[in-house]
Amino acid sequence: MSRPAPLLALVVPCCNEEAALPGTMDALADVLAACKAQGLIQEGSYALYVDDGSTDRTWELLEQRHAADPFCRAVKFAANAGHQNAVWAGMLTARQGGADCIISLDADLQDDIAAIPEMLGQYAQGCEIVYGVRHDRSTDTPFKRRTAQMFYAFMRWLRIPLIPDHADYRLVSRPVLEVLDGIREQGLFLRGLFPTLGFKSGKVCYERRSRSAGQSKYPLRKMLSFAWQGITACSAAPLRLSGLMSFLLMLLAMGYSGVALFKYAQGETIPGWTSLMLVVLFLGSVQLLCLALLGEYLAKIFGEVKNRPRYIVEKILSRPDENCESPPREH
Ligand code: UDP
Ligand code: MG
Repeated sequence: MSRPAPLLALVVPCCNEEAALPGTMDALADVLAACKAQGLIQEGSYALYVDDGSTDRTWELLEQRHAADPFCRAVKFAANAGHQNAVWAGMLTARQGGADCIISLDADLQDDIAAIPEMLGQYAQGCEIVYGVRHDRSTDTPFKRRTAQMFYAFMRWLRIPLIPDHADYRLVSRPVLEVLDGIREQGLFLRGLFPTLGFKSGKVCYERRSRSAGQSKYPLRKMLSFAWQGITACSAAPLRLSGLMSFLLMLLAMGYSGVALFKYAQGETIPGWTSLMLVVLFLGSVQLLCLALLGEYLAKIFGEVKNRPRYIVEKILSRPDENCESPPREH
């Protein structure tokens, strides 16, 4: 069953993108016009630029463009709030504006816009989320490639469901946007959040290009802090590490206490050594055990504070006489 053509909003976070924006705005207007001509999207679809506290001429360019281009809408943040918040704001603004689906993409055209019709095709077939996945990472530096591989392997080890080689190029449909509207968590890591929501999803492979103009806004320091944000936003495993350590240390302490007592019985120790060893080993393990307990409760608070929906209702089959017109989407 194919869906009708959606009202599409392209969500584009921009932070100091004056160099890349003119080309990007032209390219996005072209792709919207082409999709409209093919009947893939509705009249009135648009590109929504979110100016994330730029200090260059980004907003000026957006204002000029808005006056002349029916495809251009824009939101300006009072201060830089970060890429993830900019995408979030764009998604919720588009939802309020009545969009049936959004596609988030970078302002530097690294996400190949030729993949947009295929994403819309999968939406038409019923996918609620379509992930843009990079074919290869040849445009990344070897360092970035290697560190990204390590990151994905580590996230897999922590059992965090990530789509490998997917960043923030994705189509999200209205039912999913409705759910997002109810999520209040602060430290966002969108690529870790979406796979946990469920919904029918698809993937579209594309070739990641090099930046059209300007400089990357993710230097090494920011990249590392983003990776750490990803780990800590999606998992309480690092908190639980002290539990594992206390268990291992307890085993070691028990073994070594036996050795110390045996040596004492053999008379091989100087006075005070055995009692000192026993106290040190005992205290060390008890302290780690207490930390582990604290970590466990902290992990629970972490989950509660996030306040994510316990389940998400996607569809309900009911009889006409039942009053299920607006089912609760989340609980
Ligand atoms: N960006 C943003 N706020 C920030 C940093 C980046 O809105 O604080 C935007 C940026 O303008 C771009 C996208 O996020 O549209 C991705 O950033 P960038 O291309 O610099 O990252 P890279 O592709 O180098 O990882
Ligand atoms: Mg980029």
